[in-house]
Amino acid sequence: MDAITGATALLGQFLTPVPDAVVTLSDGRIAAAGPSSSVQIPPTASVFDASGMTLVPGFIDCHVHIGFYDPRSLLVNGVTTARDLAWPPHLIWPLVESSRAPESGPLLLAAGQMLTAPGGYPMRAAWAPRATGRVVASPGDAKQAVAEQADRGASVIKVALNPDVGPTLGRSTLEAIVAAARERGLGVTGHVAGIDELVKALDAGMDELAHMLMGSDAIPTELIERMVSQEMAVVPTLSVLNGAGLRKAVANLEAFLGAGGKVVYGTDLGNSGPRPGIDRREVTEMERAGMTPRDIVAAATRDAARHLGLHDRGVIAEGMVADLVALDREQLERARDLVRVGAVWRQGISARGGPGRN
Ligand SMILES: [Zn+2]
Repeated sequence: MDAITGATALLGQFLTPVPDAVVTLSDGRIAAAGPSSSVQIPPTASVFDASGMTLVPGFIDCHVHIGFYDPRSLLVNGVTTARDLAWPPHLIWPLVESSRAPESGPLLLAAGQMLTAPGGYPMRAAWAPRATGRVVASPGDAKQAVAEQADRGASVIKVALNPDVGPTLGRSTLEAIVAAARERGLGVTGHVAGIDELVKALDAGMDELAHMLMGSDAIPTELIERMVSQEMAVVPTLSVLNGAGLRKAVANLEAFLGAGGKVVYGTDLGNSGPRPGIDRREVTEMERAGMTPRDIVAAATRDAARHLGLHDRGVIAEGMVADLVALDREQLERARDLVRVGAVWRQGISARGGPGRN
């Protein structure tokens, strides 16, 4: 048994700040969490004094390309779960398998390959190794293409709708992909650029944007409302954008949030820009779109876990997996406070700071 004491902890489904909290860990799970007046610390527990710190659930990055980094570099910097959104099968599935060991890095989920039109993105993208993409030439090929990912353990199906660099999936092929994904119990996320492709994505019933809409378009109000009513989630990945594209994405995110849209944290780590861990640019740009530090924590923990179907992660409460981050700040006043990672635990095992069999 280990115990974390003294921190202000964001506890439970409502991320309620509880000063001088005690969180006890046992067998990789949270045994108890509450104010120090209500949680007993067993005399044999090894105690980590987190006074002056804020304890939050481990961050979940919903858009990475893990193959560019040592997975441990994400974990020591506060990311305890990550979802890879396109990498060659012979490289990604062994990483997913080995990620079950809590010392290896974050728990990994993956899409497998990105499904795309012949000649479409990312078949010639400089960042993407061969077989990162998988061409789907016709509606008849959709079921097989989805099965290839699902049979290996895909947690989502990723598609490309990026007309800036090549052809995109036609409507009937995209619809066939979404239908095949549904049959396998999977959602569909996409790299989507421009209003026409966004409309196509909505018409096909896609579940998620893997980036806020790419390109330089302001999303019209009626489309924002459609995204919200169809429960399309957005993974902003603002940290890979610059200049006018970034400003437009922040404005689109602000409008989407204002309409009640579901946002989950993700950086597109590996492509360009973000550093492994809780990314300073990502969180400060989310703040610019109107999110408070606590909103950002919610998007990166509770909401991301729900979105990914990880029902025993993302919240600090009894019985949940002990994925935790202690931030070296007594209060979270600004988004940049979220990158002050002082200690990290995955499944109760210390990856940074200690204690916990490390
Ligand atoms: Zn990406």
